[in-house]
Amino acid sequence: MFELFRPTFQADSLDNIQIEMLKKDGIRGLIIDLDNTMTPWNDVEVGPQVAAWFERIKQAGIKACVVSNNKKKQRVALVADRLGIPFVFRASKPRRRAFRAGMNILGTGRGDTAVIGDQLFTDILGGNRLGLYTVLVIPMSPREFVGTRFMRRMEKLLIWLMKHLASPKPDSPKAH
Ligand SMILES: [Mg+2]
Repeated sequence: MFELFRPTFQADSLDNIQIEMLKKDGIRGLIIDLDNTMTPWNDVEVGPQVAAWFERIKQAGIKACVVSNNKKKQRVALVADRLGIPFVFRASKPRRRAFRAGMNILGTGRGDTAVIGDQLFTDILGGNRLGLYTVLVIPMSPREFVGTRFMRRMEKLLIWLMKHLASPKPDSPKAH
């Protein structure tokens, strides 16, 4: 059960994700969360480092699509349009439908699509349910949708459980 909440890897922020590594792993399309992954919650400004990262992605031949649970179409569109990338809003992650819609837009499949987001219960769980490559990033700002704050407490509990209850992988060194 814990496997569904385990990202392929974690990064400090979106612009810290090594593009070379994504390429090496055969990734051609990215499904990227908006709030607290690309911009602080409910903000429309994309920082210069994030914008530069999107430019590098494009140069590397990797496509990106914003997939957001945010219900405000105008705001999601504003950020996506500035970066010149498509978007899906009102996505209802972790439901699988929105991830499939994202892959359709990108023209990619299960083997070459990565999901990037800041929440275990929406981004990582949803991506893992479809067997996709998943990257967890640290949320950009502590400001969040009120429903998310509850989920953060659940995330903390889950991370604790994973650490203390999950059996170690066979090849990992035993704890003394
Ligand atoms: Mg988010």
